[in-house]
Amino acid sequence: MGIYRIAEICLNGHVTTSLADTMPQFRENYCSRCGEATITKCPNCYASIRGSYDDPERLHLPKYNRPSFCHNCGKPFPWTERSMQAANELIASTGKFGELELTQFKTDIDSLMKDTPQTKVASFRVKTILGKVGKEIAFGVRDILVDIVSETAKKAIWG
Ligand SMILES: [Zn+2]
Ligand SMILES: [Zn+2]
Repeated sequence: MGIYRIAEICLNGHVTTSLADTMPQFRENYCSRCGEATITKCPNCYASIRGSYDDPERLHLPKYNRPSFCHNCGKPFPWTERSMQAANELIASTGKFGELELTQFKTDIDSLMKDTPQTKVASFRVKTILGKVGKEIAFGVRDILVDIVSETAKKAIWG
């Protein structure tokens, strides 16, 4: 049986260390990549952010994937919210969509991050939207979303 170490991540989502408790020398008060403050606890419920899974029976730590949601309270982390916001703004900036479509896009992005029965439907709708916005915006949205959407959504939208 292993345990989860504590991760330190900046508000924009850069992982400064996934071993904040065992390797404090790697900690950064401010992210060295973007200058944003770092956190080790969920801002909503103060539970420690899960870091690397440390299993004494394994020699190597598995690759660390930053979580999108708090395992304790289920709220999206700041970087998840910022990515969602950025994707929404990018789509809105095209001026091609009405209020209803933009609201639907927002809801769909939320579904893309979770593997739920809605994920496939949402992926289809997002793919349709991306087909209408032109390459530059579509690539921009992909760059933002690729780190936060589920594997199922990734495959459904980008193959
Ligand atoms: Zn950063
Ligand atoms: Zn929480």
